Amino acid sequence: MRPSLPVALLALALGLSACRSTPPAAPPPPPPPATAVVAPDDNLNAVLWMQRSAEYRAVAETVYRAASDRLAAALADPSWDALVPAERDRPAAGLPPAVIVDVDETVLDNSPYQARLVRNGGEYDEASWRAWAEERRARAVPGALAFAQAAAARGITVLYISNRAVALDRATLDNLRALGFPVHDDGAFMGLGTQVPGCQSQGSDKTCRRRWASRHYRILVQVGDQLVDFVQVPDNTPAARDAIERRYRDWFGERWFALPNPSYGGWEAAVFDNAWRLPREQRRQAKRDALDTAN
Ligand SMILES: [Mg+2]
Repeated sequence: MRPSLPVALLALALGLSACRSTPPAAPPPPPPPATAVVAPDDNLNAVLWMQRSAEYRAVAETVYRAASDRLAAALADPSWDALVPAERDRPAAGLPPAVIVDVDETVLDNSPYQARLVRNGGEYDEASWRAWAEERRARAVPGALAFAQAAAARGITVLYISNRAVALDRATLDNLRALGFPVHDDGAFMGLGTQVPGCQSQGSDKTCRRRWASRHYRILVQVGDQLVDFVQVPDNTPAARDAIERRYRDWFGERWFALPNPSYGGWEAAVFDNAWRLPREQRRQAKRDALDTAN
């Protein structure tokens, strides 16, 4: 905003007065803007990278292109399956093909929500998350839309298995459809709380929902940003997570396609023993303590 002329003259007068040997008493400083009191947020670089770097877009598009390139061969091989055998309730051969994708930070980009938390110094909570999801304004993760559309064009069903609460199914489906994602029917979205007959869900574990998929589909590929998007993680500790990654290393890039998510995830909670009840500073200290400075 430009100052009005009288204000500009006053400023000039004050400036001139500063040349005198005895300057007038300085006026009290204005109150700091609200943003000045916001504490530094460890997520700043992660969210900024996901929003502003060409590298993030390139990585996401690379992952999705690799997943797309796998579809033709997986479709042609009736024995091909991207579910671990323990999660398959019915033989895959002969079932119609599908792909399983996670939603948040896999097909939908919620970085504006994370950016708001960085800006206002907040932390994730259910109410603010729900409000963001209800806005239906998430954009597509780079490469996700082309992959989903390529699958649909081959007659492959896209199943969205998400840990968004089932109460957000309408908002999520609206958001996906508005972006052009193929949603064959409302049942394609299986949120947290989806009941699967004969399977008892534990927390946010997706095993029951994958088992439901195994009864109806042969799964060609899975795409996600968390280990739990691909297979059960019974123990969210760094060692157990590392063991799963080692065990299924050959599946990544072949049947499973993982997107980077440096802004949140099980990897973070594992470092502070999943103790979200701890004050933020204690969780932060646990993360600092987990840094490797030896090599
Ligand atoms: Mg996710």
